[in-house]
Order: sequence, then C-alpha cells, then structure tokens
Amino acid sequence: MHARAAGQIVTLAGKYDARLFLKKDTREADGSSILSILSLAVPNGEEIEARIVGRKAKEFMDELESLFINNFGETESRPYRPKKKVIKGFPVSPGIVIGKAYHLDRSKAQVFHRKLINEEEVQRDLARFRQAVDMAKEQIQKFKSSIPERVEGYAFVLDTHSMILDDVMLFDATLKRIQKEKINAGWALEKSVKNIHVLFKEVEDDYIGRRMDDVDGISERVLRNLAGVEAESLADIQGEVIVVAHTLSPVDIVEIDVDHVLGILTDVGGRTSHMAIMSEALDIPVIVGLERATDAILQGDILIVDGNTGEVIVNPDPKTILSYEDEIRRYANYKSAIDRVKHLPAETLDGHKITVKANIEFLEEAQVAIESGAEGIGLYRTEYLYLLKRGFPDEQTLFQDYDQIARMVAPNPVTIRTLDIASDRMESRMDGSREDNPALGLRSIRFCLKERKVFKTQLRAILRASRYGNFRLMFPMISGLEQFLEAKKVLRSVMRSLDKEGIEYDREIPVGILIEIPSAVSIADILAKHADFFSIGTNDLIQYALAIDRDNQQVAGLYDPFHPAVIKMVHQVVKAGEKEGIDVSLCGEIAGDPLSILILLSLGLEEFSMNIGAIPLVKKMIRMVPLQKVKEGFKDIISLPTSKKVEDFVLKKAKAHLPDIFEEDVFRYRTPGTA
Ligand code: PEP
Ligand code: MG
Repeated sequence: MHARAAGQIVTLAGKYDARLFLKKDTREADGSSILSILSLAVPNGEEIEARIVGRKAKEFMDELESLFINNFGETESRPYRPKKKVIKGFPVSPGIVIGKAYHLDRSKAQVFHRKLINEEEVQRDLARFRQAVDMAKEQIQKFKSSIPERVEGYAFVLDTHSMILDDVMLFDATLKRIQKEKINAGWALEKSVKNIHVLFKEVEDDYIGRRMDDVDGISERVLRNLAGVEAESLADIQGEVIVVAHTLSPVDIVEIDVDHVLGILTDVGGRTSHMAIMSEALDIPVIVGLERATDAILQGDILIVDGNTGEVIVNPDPKTILSYEDEIRRYANYKSAIDRVKHLPAETLDGHKITVKANIEFLEEAQVAIESGAEGIGLYRTEYLYLLKRGFPDEQTLFQDYDQIARMVAPNPVTIRTLDIASDRMESRMDGSREDNPALGLRSIRFCLKERKVFKTQLRAILRASRYGNFRLMFPMISGLEQFLEAKKVLRSVMRSLDKEGIEYDREIPVGILIEIPSAVSIADILAKHADFFSIGTNDLIQYALAIDRDNQQVAGLYDPFHPAVIKMVHQVVKAGEKEGIDVSLCGEIAGDPLSILILLSLGLEEFSMNIGAIPLVKKMIRMVPLQKVKEGFKDIISLPTSKKVEDFVLKKAKAHLPDIFEEDVFRYRTPGTA
C-alpha cells in the first residue's frame, strides 16, 4: 500500500469517533497512523483484515470498503510497485534465488543497570548468572546432539561457544564484577563483553577479529536466559522465505531448515565469521556484511539474491525478474554439472590424473575443502594464530591446531607452510622500528631465521603433529640456496631435540620450497637438487616479478597473471623440477581460474592448490581437457609477446578444440586470478 492510499485511510479515520486496526499476517497497524499502516508493507492485491472499534463502526467500515473498491481514486489501476533498489555485500555461499523477505528479530536483548543493595542480592545474581550460563551450555549441547548431517563437520564450532562460556575473561570476570561492583548479572556481563571488544579491536587479522562475533552471540544467549526470553527460532519458519537479520550465529545455521529458507542476508559479518563458513554447507545463497539490509528491506519485499556477485535487488521490476529467472536456470544447469564432478577424480579426457587441493587459512576451512572435493590441503597458511596482539602462540596451542588438521585431512596430504608474516604486523612484539617497505622487509623465512625461538617452536609443533597425518613442510619466500639450507639446518636441530626427548614424528616429512621470488626461479635448477618439492606461489611471484604491490589498489590493474614473463617463469620452474624428478605444484590464485588452468596444464603442471570455491569448476574444466592435444596445440604459448596475445591465443584455441567448454558455461562463472 502506498503513502497516498494510507493517507486517505488516516483522513477517513479522523472523521470517526472510533479506532481502526489493520492486520496483515501477524502484524497489526493503527489506522490513525500513516507510518504504522505503511510499516505493514502490503503489496497490491493482497488481503488485509480491518477491525473497527467504537461509534458508527458500520458506517466507517462501509466508507473504508468503498475506498478500497475505488482503488483509492486512482484513475487507471496501476499496480503498486515499491521502489527498486540494489544493495551489495560479501557473497559467502553462491547461488541465485527470488523470494519474499522474512525479518528475523535478532535485536539485542535490553539490559538495564541495577545496583545490588545487599549481600543477599549479590548472592542471588551470582546464582542467576551461573544458572543462565549452565542453561546456555545445555542448549548448545542439545543443538549439538541434534545437529543435521549437512553441518555435522562443524560441531566443534559449538564447542568453541561452550569454551567461551567457561573463559575467565567472560565467566570469572563477570562473577567478579557482580561481587565487587555490586551490579546486576546482565550489566556485569555486558561490561565483560565490552572489555573483550577492546582487546579484539587491536587485532588486524580478520579471522581472529571475527571470533568477537562468537563472543557476542553466546553472551546474547546468556542475556536472554537471564531475562527468561527465547529468541525466535529459524526452525519455526514456514513457507519459503529469504531470511533477513542483523546477524546470525552458528546455532542459527544448525537450526535452518533449507526447505523453508531460500537464502540468507545479514547486515554484519565477514567471510571468516563462523556463520559464513558454516553456511557454505547449506547450499543456499548467503550474503553477509550488507550493512543496512534490515533497514532497506521490509517484511514481505520481493528480493533477488545473487550469491555469486553479492548483490540483492529489492523489489525488482518484472523485466529484471524475468532476466534473473533465465539466469537462475542457467546457473542451476552449471551448478549441477560442476556438483556432479566435484567428488570425481580430476582426470583429463585422455586419462591423465591431475591433483586438485585447497588453500586454507584456518582450521575450520579444512572441512569445507574436503566437502568441496579437495584431495588434500596444498597450502595451509599458518599465520592466523600469530596475529593476536599478545605474545607468540606457545607450542601446545600450535600443536593442537596442527594435530586437528592432520587428523581431519588424513590420509590426504597437508602442505603446511611455516610462518609467513610481515614484521609490520608484529610490531608490538619486536624491538625494531616500522619498516618503510614491509613487502621487501624482514618477513616470512627471513623473520623466522632471525627469531629462531619463534621458528623452532613452530617447527616442533609441526613435527609433533606430523605423525598423526600426512604432512609436507614448506618454507616461504626462499630467495637463495643458503637460506633454504639454513632453514633445513634449524629443522634438523629441532628433530634432534625431539629425538633426545623421545618424541615421535614423521622422519620422512618432505621439505619443499614455495617458489615466489624471481631469484628462486632463476636458480630453480640448483634449488631442485636440495628440495623434495616445489610449489609455485604466483601471488607473490607476480608481485615481485612485475614490481606491482599486490595490496595497492592504484596498481591493481597492472597485476597481470598472463604476462609473458610469468608464463616463462612457471615453465622454467616446471622444467627444473622435472629434471631433478621432484614434484612441482602451483598454489597461487590463478590456479582457481579455468582459463589459466589450460595454460598451466600445457606447461606441464599436474598439481594445483586453490581457493576452495574454485575446486568444483576447476575439476570440471580438467575433465573436459584432452591433455596431450592441449600440450601440442599450446606449444607456442611461451613465445607470445604480450598478455593480451596470451589470453586471445588461449580463447581461440579453446574455441577451436574445446567447444564444450563454452557450451557448459565453464568460463562464464570464472573469477580471473588476482592476488
Ligand atoms: C603466493 O604468494 O602465491 C602464495 C600462495 O602465498 P600467499 O598468497 O599467502 O602469499
Ligand atoms: Mg606468498
């Protein structure tokens, strides 16, 4: 209902000494308030219920009815159409859907400050708090025991929530506050949470920072338990809707019934929130970080949710809906084609076995990787545990993380990369001053070789965990032979000390080099004699070879994965590896691009590691490639003069020899490799 019609209702209501109530579904509006009526957001043609209480109700109702019958005096019956708008967030689970918005109330529980006046009240609030926490633990346990199969692998996220409840900074600190400050339990808990916020504010790493979402989610549960109110459950949703909420917790994700929930939109959250990670398993489009979705979208609004681009179209016109219906069909065909192959081997048409693995940054991603068809972890970036501001993680913390990942992925291999961190991110722990040029500064293996204690602690943790899985150890940013030999020397000394202590580890653990500095490419033949494997890291290799800062938006357009120099370098490393008979794989972002994959296969690479989302598509691509033919047809690729010529050449050859690739939309959904 638009404002003009609502205005006429209000004017009519003003004439009568009676009250009008309008009801749509479960919501009721006051007929004397234009805002209240508009908030019902009744689309044209939908029924609403009117109730009049007071004098001359019958007359009032007749007049109201004729307003509706006469379409509020509109001469032509123009359908009411709310204004179309587009909002954008971070897509965390792909897919496209069209449906109605359903607001899920996740507004914060109201907490009031109350001073406790005597010891009796203090004791009572201490008990109430303990009880609310116990209740929260029981609730989580209950969710855990009925966890649906599709998200079973994430049960440990719920354990994290239980652990947060037990954490001294939350539990003990709140009890202390109640006692010392003599304030009520809810207020004390809020203060503890605020304190944790201050600590997390300094954390630069997105993954660690996002754990604050978990603290907020779980404390919200305790607050509701204290107030004795239950949050609306996602399990109760009926019909088919797109859920719009300020935020959702991992428990919400466990509760979702995908028969009723077509998609999810939230105001807050990032790629690394637990909710976002888990939502990938739901197989419905999810967009987070929309900032104002709960303001911009009204209950019942028609939405197009594009989980591939992160776009939400609110109240689209019929033409847009039609075009998206086509896109939905197209994407569904594409999706079922790639889903069919994701657990099949990445074997070329002519029977060559290619290995496809995943790049991950934190433990929880390992599960998603395996579910997406990864045949192991080709790059475990181990930085996240180091990015908390206070001190370096101890050996046991690291061991627990590596041990879990080893067991989760076994018998498939995990290539674990030692700490690759720039000194500017660890400033507070070093005596040195800020570096002008951290990308060329004391980072990665250079840092580790200087800070031996930090390095050895990590190596000990990796070795100790190595016996529980299938690990390969990789040193990043190696620029020359001496550096690599030095790193191996440190490794051997750590092995000796473990031997002395009688601690078991995998003695045969392969030790390799992440080839990502041009000098390492130049001497790849020499390095290959001393390494068990190479993995080519094109993200940094392109940065250092083309002198393009990969984090600088100003030069992002110059970042060029198809630059002839890059092609030649990859070729050179592959040849050096072949000559010494060691494995060579590639773990830069370009491995996730099906067009690049054609080039890389033609250069002789047979193992790739990539971002998880790209795995099904890359497998699909590989399975359509006649490898021998591609190798022959692409021979000239290393002598092409420009990246444009390289790309045109690949597209031309693909059109001529691999027409199915275009028919099956393999290139349509590609995300060209960036850093
Ligand atoms: C690379 O540099 O290509 C790489 C794989 O590592 P990162 O992106 O972590 O630097
Ligand atoms: Mg790198």
